[in-house]
Amino acid sequence: MSGRLWDEAAAARSYEAKAAGDLESMDLPSPHECFKQIRTYLQRMCDTRRTKTGVRVLSQRTLENGDMQINAGPSIYRHPREGCVEFQSGAFLKFGATLRFHGVGSKLIVHSFHLQLEPTSRMEFVRIDLNDKEASNPLHVPRSHLHPGFQHVHIPFPVMRPLEILDRLVHVIEPAFRH
Ligand SMILES: [Zn+2]
Repeated sequence: MSGRLWDEAAAARSYEAKAAGDLESMDLPSPHECFKQIRTYLQRMCDTRRTKTGVRVLSQRTLENGDMQINAGPSIYRHPREGCVEFQSGAFLKFGATLRFHGVGSKLIVHSFHLQLEPTSRMEFVRIDLNDKEASNPLHVPRSHLHPGFQHVHIPFPVMRPLEILDRLVHVIEPAFRH
């Protein structure tokens, strides 16, 4: 017994169910349109010199089951920042999102946004993940979560559109670590 006054596992499952509902009701345009929006966003960030690299790190590919994957940076994270979105601060970002077209728009299946910070930033990285299925233990690993510099720490994160997460990272989180 934890000695708590509530059932923390049941509470976590209830948050997980709410996140699943939010994901289900998320309105996204077609995968190609999502790709175009992200490309435009990255181009603008590069044009305004917020980042040093932009659209050239972006790619899309169709998976065997027809889902579309939008990627920026190498699909397996490696330390060299080559192929990532680079910030003027030295921080860099790589991300991937998988979308499933359903005739009108698309459903978000999975994503991962990894912001690697400068060694002087007091935090190594921030990563925001959406796993591909509901967690078996949402108290410890919610499907939508944030890693605050530690692989094994999963903080529940609201379900958001990929473009919104990108914007939070670029405009809110990365600037918070500048000196
Ligand atoms: Zn994760």
